[in-house]
Amino acid sequence: MNYRHLYHAGNFADVLKHGLLCWIVAYLQQKEAPLSFIDTHAGRGIYDLSAPEALKTGEAALGIGRVLAEADPPAALNPFLGLVRAQPPATYPGSPRLLAGMVRPQDRITACELHPEEAAALRRAVAGTSQVRVLEADGYQRLPGLVPPPGKRGLVLMDPPFEQPDELAALAAGFIAAHRKWPTGLYMLWFPLKDRAAFDRFLDELRSAQIPRMSLCLIDVDRPQGLSAAGLLLVNAPYTLKAEWTPALEWLARTMAQGPNASARLEELAGPPAS
Ligand code: SAM
Repeated sequence: MNYRHLYHAGNFADVLKHGLLCWIVAYLQQKEAPLSFIDTHAGRGIYDLSAPEALKTGEAALGIGRVLAEADPPAALNPFLGLVRAQPPATYPGSPRLLAGMVRPQDRITACELHPEEAAALRRAVAGTSQVRVLEADGYQRLPGLVPPPGKRGLVLMDPPFEQPDELAALAAGFIAAHRKWPTGLYMLWFPLKDRAAFDRFLDELRSAQIPRMSLCLIDVDRPQGLSAAGLLLVNAPYTLKAEWTPALEWLARTMAQGPNASARLEELAGPPAS
């Protein structure tokens, strides 16, 4: 358990993930009914971008730094960028902090974080928000007991560190088990795109489990070294995803490009045949 998200906070993959997360939350909150948000791998909540770890990689400057410098970002990013701009300078909000920034009195957040120091930092980061419950726990183990949540409306974010070679398989298995118990939930699964064959196996596994309504949002910033491409698999995404996020994704790929071949793609995957 060596992974520290501070090295990567605010990079292109975070901007994509967090932009989509906040846009989806805003979409779901158009209805008054209570929502449950479950963050299985939550991190520490607030990241100090002036810390040596963040400065060492410089990833935030090429990600959120570039986006904040633009005068006219796409409207789909507004919920996310409003929250980032409200943070103290040189700090970046992680997923549970963003959720805490959007939560309404009737909503609830459950955030699992296995690393004791990160979990303690997360408790401090969300201390003022009574709707958040932080569990110092394994998100994969806890998820089956957290779904379906009361009211059966809301979303699950699964954002593991990919330290283990079999993390895509663990992600697929954890998600499929949760989806069996709560098929109408909205799911966001983050993944790095490094090994195309492993990724195809991951998609095949989801297809064999007959998961309907899957969408892929992918971004490749054409980075010469290190992680260049990442994406999210969304299940039960809002119907307006393609119309609103196709231009937003293209804008993000252009704005955060690190090479001439940066690209983005939004794909709605064919579901199982109607029975
Ligand atoms: N979701 C966060 C965000 O968007 O701001 C970033 C999370 S980071 C990619 C992954 C986190 O998962 C790390 O903080 C790591 O300590 C934690 N972690 C690793 N294994 C875990 C597990 N089995 N259950 C819960 N958390 C875990």
